[in-house]
Amino acid sequence: MVDLQGQYAEIKDQVTASMQGVIDTASFINGPEVQSFQKELEAYLGVKHVIPCANGTDALQIAMMGLGLKTGDEVITADFTFAATVEVIALLGLTPVLVDVDPINFNIDLAAVERAITPRTKAIVPVHLFGLSADMEPLMALAKKHNLFVIEDNAQGIGAECTFSDGSKQKTGTIGHVASTSFFPSKNLGCYGDGGAIFTNDDDLAHTLRGIVNHGMYERYHHDVVGVNSRLDSLQAAVLRAKLPRLDQYNAARRRAAAAYTRAFAQVPGITTPSGACGPEKGICAQCDCHVFHQYTLKIDGVDRDALVKHLAANNIPCGVYYPIPLHAQKAYKDERYNEADFTVTNTLVQCVISLPMHTELEDDQIDFITNTVIEFVKDQRHG
Ligand SMILES: *Cc1c(COP(=O)(O)O)cnc(C)c1O
Repeated sequence: MVDLQGQYAEIKDQVTASMQGVIDTASFINGPEVQSFQKELEAYLGVKHVIPCANGTDALQIAMMGLGLKTGDEVITADFTFAATVEVIALLGLTPVLVDVDPINFNIDLAAVERAITPRTKAIVPVHLFGLSADMEPLMALAKKHNLFVIEDNAQGIGAECTFSDGSKQKTGTIGHVASTSFFPSKNLGCYGDGGAIFTNDDDLAHTLRGIVNHGMYERYHHDVVGVNSRLDSLQAAVLRAKLPRLDQYNAARRRAAAAYTRAFAQVPGITTPSGACGPEKGICAQCDCHVFHQYTLKIDGVDRDALVKHLAANNIPCGVYYPIPLHAQKAYKDERYNEADFTVTNTLVQCVISLPMHTELEDDQIDFITNTVIEFVKDQRHG
């Protein structure tokens, strides 16, 4: 699904030299590499504060701790996403409220969010799923109206932009009150192990978060709040510093591959290609940067998905099903509050989505082979 070796070849000398530098100076934790990376990422995103931490799940948890959410507070998030989002809500003793998503762009459904708001609701967690910005403008307006925090889960969306109705653009992860991201190796900006970060424009919140990641300490051995130990290590920061200047180029390579896939699948009955967020036709958004294609995800109709997965595997084409089970139906998160009728979109998506290989090193002939293999199979199945 990803080709990290190809990407490494290009940055090998730089990464090796800076990793050696970290080892030579033995500044493994919170060394200059981490501080430089923090500043460089702040500049790239146009956000006031980046707080590096150990992984994207911690980043979400720490963001929620920093907002001072209390046991029983309700946090609304999407039913169709990776489990980390709902996991940390539950871990903190908050009440997860899962809601349905949009069938076209897979992101949280604003009407469903609005219906789920109660007097106990304190926050909304939109996830920029597969690299496409959630519809942040109306979401922020809704949050403001009900006095709710917005925590953006930007683990899949780093580098993506959200376009507002006045034509202005803002990077995802800089729009809500606070945001989290992950530097897991396969993410769009991945390191060579675990890593994550929290972003905010709020100075006070940033101060609180910097203490929480470090055992609740604001002054050495004075523990003012209950914190955690969550650090990005200097070796990972060295990798991220080599990759960050190339992130736009990496994301452009993903968009190019996505556009080639979409051209090939355009007129094939039974295949729906992924949508962009903006433009009247909600098409592929060639004209903007709203989608960074963490995943390229098709919806298929009238085709046995398991058989397609097997057929691709037999042709040495990796693929993925993100996600096969809605969160509200997972054993850990089942709850009698949920009503199946409220999840018609996720219940359908989990049965028809399939993600194709997507990375920065996809060649035209690979894309041709993948699209031809998918199209032949889909045509066969629908006619047979
Ligand atoms: C990857 C991911 C996370 C978790 O990140 P880790 O670094 O693996 O902890 C959280 N949310 C979403 C949407 C993700 O894709």
